[in-house]
Amino acid sequence: MENQSKAAWLEQIAEKIREYTRNNPGYSPRVLKENLMKEFFISAGEAEKLAIMAGRELNLSQLGLAALELNLTFNCNLTCSYCFIHQKSPQDRMTLATAQKAIDLLMERAAFPHVNITLFGGEPLLEFNLIKKIVPYALDAAKKHNIALTWAITTNGTLINEDILKFFSQYKINMLLSIDGGPETHDRYRRTRSGEGTWHKIAGLIPLIKAYQPWLGARMTVSTEAIDTMREDFNQLVGMGINQFIIAPAQGAASWSMEEIEQYGLNQLAILRDYLKLKQKGYPIFIEEFEKGENEYTGWGCRAGRTSLAVAPNGDVSPCSKLLGLTEEAGRYIVGNVNSEINVQLLEPFQNPISRRQPYCRKCSRPCTGGCYAVNFEQTGDHFAPSEENCLFWVVCQETKRASGMLRTGCVACVGRR
Ligand code: SF4
Ligand code: SF4
Repeated sequence: MENQSKAAWLEQIAEKIREYTRNNPGYSPRVLKENLMKEFFISAGEAEKLAIMAGRELNLSQLGLAALELNLTFNCNLTCSYCFIHQKSPQDRMTLATAQKAIDLLMERAAFPHVNITLFGGEPLLEFNLIKKIVPYALDAAKKHNIALTWAITTNGTLINEDILKFFSQYKINMLLSIDGGPETHDRYRRTRSGEGTWHKIAGLIPLIKAYQPWLGARMTVSTEAIDTMREDFNQLVGMGINQFIIAPAQGAASWSMEEIEQYGLNQLAILRDYLKLKQKGYPIFIEEFEKGENEYTGWGCRAGRTSLAVAPNGDVSPCSKLLGLTEEAGRYIVGNVNSEINVQLLEPFQNPISRRQPYCRKCSRPCTGGCYAVNFEQTGDHFAPSEENCLFWVVCQETKRASGMLRTGCVACVGRR
């Protein structure tokens, strides 16, 4: 299972456990075990382990982790204008001692037999020497706690070399490249400090990267300026050998117009058709959003602050890396520091986000998840108050899922005729 799908799957199990414990104050590990086996087709042994761990964690506190984002630095070799880290400083670098404390926190609070660490930034590859020390430490800690550990790294790709690739391949560290499409689109924002584009550099490295990591994922961020070339950008990335995509609009303080969101949705449908054709031809490709069923409700809120935490270079702990990048202190939502202590009680709104639903969301019949906390804060000043833009994006994405479900299950033959 790919890391992204695994994280979603773990989140669904976590939601099931939360739902069960919320609705059954008596809490029976045996009944929970049976429910988990039935719903997620996991073995009796795994289900029992999960049920016992869930019980233990519930007694200890409300916090049971499945994932940690380690922001190794806020420094970056690029100056992407839409980057969510607003206040970069070359001094913001994580020390080994801070990284070790963050890893200890994950291991002590792990509520699952599998956990994931994502290396994040800034540009995390600026800290490759630190990565080489962190990885063996974390694997050792995971072994002591009898936990399986997986890795991911989100990188702009420009610093990759063969030593890094060998190390990643040895420790199965899965890379996700931030690349927005063809040269024109990518270089519009993703430039070096001296103003040079970075597309050719990354494109030139992809054959080498694929020699070490044949299945390669990319995060394609779509800005309003790139709407017209969105489909072309997707196909360009496919042509370069990208297999897995996270396609997302660049949302934040600047808002999208209704027309732009509508066009984004139409482009998504065009990409869906290309995607299905590629699959029919046997091209190895995966886009999670296109594989999910329409109205597949994953619960209110995301994993941030619930089963996942982010640690800043100085050790500050927040529900999510994207929040750490916000300018306003209230937006960053720091709940403590791994070098001193964290106040788990402060995470309560993120543990139980449905209780913070706005009146307009309570009245709404759409099974939406309530938007990204970071985007919400940038747009409305409240992590739990989605803007209208969120509703519109949700609707267009639902339409794509509806079309995807129909084309995948009901009308696949039609795709070849178009
Ligand atoms: S679609 Fe909009 S109003 Fe409806 S629940 Fe989602 S964020 Fe709230
Ligand atoms: S807060 Fe936003 S970026 Fe962070 S996990 Fe939630 S949806 Fe993703």
